[in-house]
Amino acid sequence: MKIKTGIIGAGILGLAIAYKIREAEPDTEIYLFDKESGPGMHQSGRNSGVLHCGLSYEPGSLKAHLAVSGIREMVEFCRKNGIDHELCGKVVVASGEREERVLEDLAQRGAANGLKGLTFLSSSELEKREPHVKASAALFVPEEGIVDYKGVMGALASRILENGGNIAYNTRIGGCAVKRNREFIVIAGKREFVVDRLINCAGLHADQVYQSCTNMERPLRIVPFRGEYLRLKPDAEYLVNHLVYPVPDPAYPFLGVHFTRMIHGGREVGPNAVLAFKREGYSWRDFSFKDSLDTIAAPGFREFLKRNFHFAAREFSSSLFKSSFLEKARHLIPDITADQLEPGQTGVRAQAIENTGVLAMDFRIVSDGSQVHVLNAPSPGATASLAIAGYIVKNYIHLN
Ligand SMILES: Cc1cc2nc3c(=O)[nH]c(=O)nc-3n(C[C@H](O)[C@H](O)[C@H](O)COP(=O)(O)OP(=O)(O)OC[C@H]3O[C@@H](n4cnc5c(N)ncnc54)[C@H](O)[C@@H]3O)c2cc1C
Repeated sequence: MKIKTGIIGAGILGLAIAYKIREAEPDTEIYLFDKESGPGMHQSGRNSGVLHCGLSYEPGSLKAHLAVSGIREMVEFCRKNGIDHELCGKVVVASGEREERVLEDLAQRGAANGLKGLTFLSSSELEKREPHVKASAALFVPEEGIVDYKGVMGALASRILENGGNIAYNTRIGGCAVKRNREFIVIAGKREFVVDRLINCAGLHADQVYQSCTNMERPLRIVPFRGEYLRLKPDAEYLVNHLVYPVPDPAYPFLGVHFTRMIHGGREVGPNAVLAFKREGYSWRDFSFKDSLDTIAAPGFREFLKRNFHFAAREFSSSLFKSSFLEKARHLIPDITADQLEPGQTGVRAQAIENTGVLAMDFRIVSDGSQVHVLNAPSPGATASLAIAGYIVKNYIHLN
């Protein structure tokens, strides 16, 4: 008997899982659902386009493990499918003693995660690589890179369709019901699909989909953090050669405002991390009473805000005032001026928060055997998508 697998969400993760299941179990029937008109319209199509190699993540964590194996797998996939990518390396820069100590820790973390070729640059080496960056210490990470994630998603979608899988766009899943023993009815408006197993990769809505499919309280709540970018005007692109990152604040899962050379040209600076009033709220104008209430009512949210008020206020300020954003950029490249920047894209991170008010630092996947829910897969989720998919297939799917 053919197993039918339903996957909610055609972001990079849902696509990677559909692709991997077909590889492992060629007989399975795949039904991939997305509420939008094409793949990757949210996080996966609105990110920095960076291939993260595993520098900052806690050794032993899923993020560390799956970023390190994930970047290799992603690069191999890009090579095989002719997708633009480049392992251009990045520099992480520190200013002052406190940041230098964090940078040392970061280098040790990277080494513990198995990264190769991590090197502290002398000031002349930094100047050769990134002449406009000012720092008291700089770590070069050669394995980091840039990629065309939209190209990756296009290739994954093509492979799924070529292998007989089904992708239903414009299909919002409102809930599911258990039919008999193992079967689920997946409900999309007036349409119903019967599947044997269900995988939730709904990104910004993953916790809500969890609740509607299990009828259980959400173990984590998604809090949307908008990431805004500015773009360097063409005549200012000379300021950045490759990837330039600040030392991240270890208390947060965000990497800080950085400079990125995009794979198809152009330079971006960002993203900040602004609490959004709508899960898919890409600008200040986007407000959802329902989403805001859901965030405020989240068990840990008020505790989070109490403990992180200064962080939240700083990020709000960087959204409201270009000067405040510019200050973050100038921390890395002091010479940059406001008139060298123009508005860029925005994305919203699906960042899960624990009921205790702590941001979930690691990827989180929960399963009861026949349903698998990906409840936290923020950055480096795109880099690691194929590895996360492999991990789910190996650990949570009982193959036929
Ligand atoms: C600003 C920003 C910068 C980032 N930078 C990087 C980076 O440089 N490198 C990196 O590796 N990672 C980065 N990330 C993280 C990365 O983009 C995510 O980890 C990854 O895209 C998550 O993929 P996903 O498929 O889980 O989610 P998504 O891409 O959000 O996909 C979820 C899909 O589910 C669909 N959906 C939701 N609810 C339903 C429903 N009820 N029915 C049907 N469909 C539904 C949505 O339409 C969406 O297409 C960044 C993220 C952001 C936001």
